[in-house]
Parts: sequence; structure tokens; C-alpha cells
Amino acid sequence: MRPFHYREGILRADEVPLDQVAARFGTPVYVYSEMAIHERYTAFSHALGPETLLCYAVKASSNLHLLSCLAHWGAGFDIVSGGELARVLRAGGDPQRIVFSGVGKSREEIAAALNAGIFCLNVESEAELERVDTIASELGCRAPVALRVNPDVEPGTHRYIATGLRESKFGIPMAQAENLYLAAERWPAIDFRGIACHIGSQLTDLAPIAEAARKVRGLYERLSKAGMAISHLDLGGGVGIRYHDEQVPTPADYAAVLHDALTGLPVRLVVELGRSIVGNAGVLLTRVEYLKDNEGKKFCIVDAAMNDLLRPSLYGAWHDILPVQEAELPAETGTLDVVGPICESGDFFARGRLLAAKAGDLLAILGAGAYGFAMASQYNSRLRPPEVLIRGNEARLIRRRETLADLLAPEENPG
Ligand SMILES: *Cc1c(COP(=O)(O)O)cnc(C)c1O
Repeated sequence: MRPFHYREGILRADEVPLDQVAARFGTPVYVYSEMAIHERYTAFSHALGPETLLCYAVKASSNLHLLSCLAHWGAGFDIVSGGELARVLRAGGDPQRIVFSGVGKSREEIAAALNAGIFCLNVESEAELERVDTIASELGCRAPVALRVNPDVEPGTHRYIATGLRESKFGIPMAQAENLYLAAERWPAIDFRGIACHIGSQLTDLAPIAEAARKVRGLYERLSKAGMAISHLDLGGGVGIRYHDEQVPTPADYAAVLHDALTGLPVRLVVELGRSIVGNAGVLLTRVEYLKDNEGKKFCIVDAAMNDLLRPSLYGAWHDILPVQEAELPAETGTLDVVGPICESGDFFARGRLLAAKAGDLLAILGAGAYGFAMASQYNSRLRPPEVLIRGNEARLIRRRETLADLLAPEENPG
């Protein structure tokens, strides 16, 4: 069953009517289905097989309670900051299943990761390699490292989330990475264990992922010939989801492409999936404040805004919007812009959308489970919304709504 569906004219998350969630917790509010996250996690985990280390990319949605569900199901984690490391450890994640990505790891972050005993640091430059080597030798340990290579493939996604192109800041060009591996003795405190790559996000075509995997395989084989023992290949994440009418890969298609590309290699596969695990398991529930008609241009002003869900403003992303109370679609002339209260013309959720809405109605913005709350800010001094987790017929608050005291405290008590 789809996690968000109508029954008796009311949109529900699993068993729970969303009007009841709004009545209990107020709006705007993020609502996630634990069952939907579990279904996606287990679908990928079964397709990839027990030998694969499936790391959940924490930046997609980082609530402690979601992380603790994933840790409980056996997930590993892909982190990009010391803050995310702290979250995963607090949620009970296994350090031996953590990979740490990112181009700008600070000294403190590297030391914290080494002290925690994580599985691997994905290093993105020679300068970072030097820094990791120095810190590991100060701590008297050897740092488990994969170089994140930049395979220079066109992922066919939004420019802001394409990460494996020559001109992007991510990774190390293949030839340069090869030279670093071959000069391994220059960094005595580095234990070169793997090769990593991640070419972008919201990929709807598997061909670029296959091409990147083939390039990584080529590098593995050259290093192997040179006598270097690499034990894992981390092929990143980026599997796309359906926001609108996209055709997207199934977990089985994805797993088949990776397994094909790595056939016969004695290595462990690592993946880093975010959006495809949680993206369609969450909605942002919002209430219509006003309707407004500017000389024929109709606006539906809701109580959520770009500070709560940035994707439409940042990427021009499409999100389906459904009325919580099932309603007939208006005639074609009835298109509206769904906008928030923020003082920016870029503050919108939909433009020219066919939608039945009147003041006081509840709307659900779908596909808000990934890069939703995680990107929320207090812009315009708005309080960040609460998060609610649905388990069967139970709705549980997993992050409270911020208060005016939360907003003002760091300035009233600057320390
Ligand atoms: C963001 C990111 C991911 C996850 O991407 P999704 O599209 O959410 O699967 C994985 N690896 C790295 C290095 C990332 O930066």
C-alpha cells in the first residue's frame, strides 16, 4: 500500500488521517511513515545482498529517531560532518559501518572520526590526505582511507547536484588518484582500503552509474596489478525517486548494474543511499492561510515556506501537492501558485498548479522526506517545524516545534 493514500475522503499516512496529525501537532509539520522507510531500506538491502555495506546518507534526513530505526535494521551511515557523526553515534549506529565523505573535513572532524573508529574516511584531495596522515600519527593509529575519485561522467541531473564532473569540486581526477595510491608509502599512517565515488543525486538513468563503476573497476585492476590490496569499492548513492512522472530505477535494477560492473572482483561493495530511502516516505503538511487574486493571477498562500522546504526554490523542483480532504480538481482556468509567507519571490512550492484549495484547507506536499527538514532554516525568524513519525496507527512526535525562546536564546546568551 502507498504510504500516503485516501480512505473515506481523507489523506492518511499509513492508518493515520493527516487532519488528526495537523489538529494534534499544528502546521506546518513534517510527517514520515516508518513503514515506508523500512520498505525502501529492506528492498535495497535485499537487492544488494548481505555482503554489501548499505550506508544511509544522513544529510538526506537526519532526525535521531529515524537514524535509530535505521541503525536497528542494520544500516551503515554516510556522514559529511562532525555533527552527523555525533547524531549517528547518539542514535546507536555502529562506528564500523560509518563512511565519512566531504571536501572540507576539519582537523576536529577527522580526529573525532578516528577516535570513534569509523569504517572509512573518503578523502577528496592530496591536502586532506596529508592532514589525515598527520592526525592519525599524532593519535597513534592508522587511518582507514578510500580516495574519492571524480570519474568525469555526465549524470543527467540538476547542475547543483551533479558531483562527478570534471568541473565539480568533488573528488580527485582518476589519473591523479592513481598516482596518490601508488605513492602510498609517503603517508605511513594511512591505510588505503578502498576506492570511492559519488557522481550526483536524483539520477533517473543507471547508465552513468554503470559508467562510473566501470571506471572505478579499471582503477582497481590497475592498482591490483601494481600490488596494491584494495578491499572495498564505494559507489556512492544518487538513485532517483519519482516526484512527478519520472521513470526511476528499481532497487533490483540498481543492484544488478552494480553487481554486473563488479563481477568477479574480490571486494566488498559499499553504497551511500539517501533520497531513495526516505524521499517518498515524508510529507510536509501545511494549511492554507489566504487565497489572493492579482488581476487574474491566483495565489494560494500557505503557512509553510521555503525555510521549511527549500527544494522548489533551490532547484525549481516539482513536488506533488494533495488536499488532505479529497476534492474535485477545478477546471483548467483554476491554476494557482502555491507560495509561502517569506519575503522572496522565490518562496514557492508550485507554480501554475491545478489544485482545489480554499482558506483553512490542509495540503500535503509530497516527496518531502529527503532534503526537506534537513535543509530547513530560521530565515525570516521563522520557527522550524516539528517532525512526526507514523508507526501503524500511532503518531509520535520526534522533534518538537521550535519556540521563540529557541530562536532568541543564542543571542540573549551569546556566552
Ligand atoms: C549526498 C550524498 C549521497 C546521497 O545522495 P542521494 O542522492 O541522497 O542518494 C551519497 N554520497 C555522498 C558523498 C553524498 O554527498
